[in-house]
Amino acid sequence: MARNHRKVWVGKKCVFCGGKRPAEDCEHSPPRVLFRGQSRPKGWEFPSCKRCNNGPSSNDTLAAVVAYSQARDAIFQSKPLSEDMKKLVDGFGSNFPFPYKQAQPVPIYDQSNQTWKSARHCEFTNQAATSLALWSAKQSLAMWYEFTSSIASHHCVIDVLLLTNTRQPNEELEQAIHKLGPSSSMSTKNNVVDKNFSYKFQLNSPKNLAAMFAQYHSGFAFVSIITDRRSAKLRRRGLQYKFSTNGHRGIHRI
Ligand SMILES: [Zn+2]
Repeated sequence: MARNHRKVWVGKKCVFCGGKRPAEDCEHSPPRVLFRGQSRPKGWEFPSCKRCNNGPSSNDTLAAVVAYSQARDAIFQSKPLSEDMKKLVDGFGSNFPFPYKQAQPVPIYDQSNQTWKSARHCEFTNQAATSLALWSAKQSLAMWYEFTSSIASHHCVIDVLLLTNTRQPNEELEQAIHKLGPSSSMSTKNNVVDKNFSYKFQLNSPKNLAAMFAQYHSGFAFVSIITDRRSAKLRRRGLQYKFSTNGHRGIHRI
C-alpha cells in the first residue's frame, strides 16, 4: 500500500459504519473509475474498515458503467462508445448482469412536434437500482464526513433518490435541488465545474441534517438526505430508498 494512503486512516475509525470499527484502509469516494482517463483529482480519501472498503466492489464499476452510459454523448448516441466505456463494459459483463431492463432508442421531438433525434431510454433492473442506491448512500456518508469532519453515527438515516434520464426530478424536488445552490467539484479550473463529478451539499447544523445532490458526467445523479432518527420532528415521508449504518452490519437498507 502506498505510504500516503497509510497516513489517512492510521488510528482512525471507519467513516462508513458509524465510527465503531477501526479503519484499515483508505477509500476513494467517488472512486477513480468514475473519472475519464484517470483524471481523478487528489483528496476525498476516507478512513475505512476492510468490509466497507471492499464491498460490494462491483458497485463502483456499476456506477461507472451507468454514469458513462447516461452521459449526454451516450444517450444521444452522438459518439461511439469511448475507450473508457468499452473497457468497463468488457470487464463488467461477467461479474454483474447488464444494469438496464431496456435501453431502447426513443424518438425525441422538437417544439414543432417533428422528430428531432433519438435517445436511449434507460430503465434500471431492480438489482441494479438497489445496488446503485447502496452505493449512493456510501457516497453520501463520505460527503457528510468531508464537510462536517464527523462520522455519521448509527442513529443516522440516509434517504436516497436515484435520477436518470427516465427518472427526472418533479417540480418540487427540482426546486429543492436548486435551493442547494450552485454545483461544486473536487477541483475547479477557471470557474468550470468538473463534469466527471459535481455536487451540492448543504448542512443544517442545528437540526443535524444534510441534503446533497451528486451528479456524474452530467447524467446519472442522486439526491440524498442524512437525518438523525432521534429527532422525531425530522421523520419525513422519505425518498426512494432508506439506509442506516452500524458497526455490526455496515451500510444496510431499512
Ligand atoms: Zn466500516
